[in-house]
Amino acid sequence: IVQWPFRATQRRKLNWVQLAGHKGNFKAADEGTILKKFSENEMQCFEKLRDDALLPFVPGYHGVVEKDGESFLHMTDLLANFDLPNVMDCKMGVRTYLEEELVRARERPKPREDLYRKMVEVDSEGPTPQEHTQRGVTKPRYMQWRETMSSTNTLGFRIEGIKKCDGTCRTDFKKTRSKQDVIQVFNDFVGGNFNLITSYLSRLTEIRQALKTSEFFKRHEVIGSSLLFIHDHTGNAQVWIIDFGKTTALPEGQMLNHDIPWQEGNREDGYLWGLENLIHTLESVSNN
Ligand code: ATP
Ligand code: MG
Ligand code: MG
Repeated sequence: IVQWPFRATQRRKLNWVQLAGHKGNFKAADEGTILKKFSENEMQCFEKLRDDALLPFVPGYHGVVEKDGESFLHMTDLLANFDLPNVMDCKMGVRTYLEEELVRARERPKPREDLYRKMVEVDSEGPTPQEHTQRGVTKPRYMQWRETMSSTNTLGFRIEGIKKCDGTCRTDFKKTRSKQDVIQVFNDFVGGNFNLITSYLSRLTEIRQALKTSEFFKRHEVIGSSLLFIHDHTGNAQVWIIDFGKTTALPEGQMLNHDIPWQEGNREDGYLWGLENLIHTLESVSNN
């Protein structure tokens, strides 16, 4: 662990884009790098990825650093090589919570008004008559309901947010569910430039290939991880695998398929199934 000198240039601060997570979770760092709030789990993933087939598709990892008494994971800023990037965060998998989180949420399932309000905000008809009466929704109920609103359950991925080079930012995709909706969003994201779709597709195909050979992927429940899509006006288009905060190692000797349905207890995440759907969806963008 080293003390990190904090010297972000003004320009990088203005360009930095964060599409998910708490705002305080990231800090700018030395040229071309960023700091993400430390998590033991994510650190272990980065350590294990050091000699894995997925290494070319994850941000460079430069260890743990300390800043203002807090620990951070030091990693490559994926936006650094772009000029006014367009960025999309696509969260993979058929669920975005761990099985153990569901179990924990069930321990004291008291109706919560904050979750009730969050549900009504997305869909006033979300709560059952009883939930309306008590103005409360339990955590496990909320967690499972939320995944049915977006394309998480139906397609195995969902769009979390988009920031375009003109500065516009959208994170209101909680109800973007159908393949048609997703096609629209991608179409708008690339501004009708199908060369970008072609580049994205070839990168996704490489990622799929790497996932199929990755030892890390076989032995982890990959939850809440995203594919980060980035392109700019030069035609440069890349996709990266990010966010291992909830990616959890399976017990020794156990493996996942990643493309069979989740049933509570089997820990399947639907990652590969989602990627397959994502590829098919992108293939139909250019035919639209
Ligand atoms: P959550 O769990 O809510 O998704 P988080 O705190 O785990 O959030 P991430 O998902 O890792 O954070 O990152 C949040 C956002 O920050 C991403 O959507 C992306 O826009 C940006 N980001 C993360 N890592 C990088 C990186 N290495 N380079 C460039 N941008 C990044
Ligand atoms: Mg994330
Ligand atoms: Mg996360």
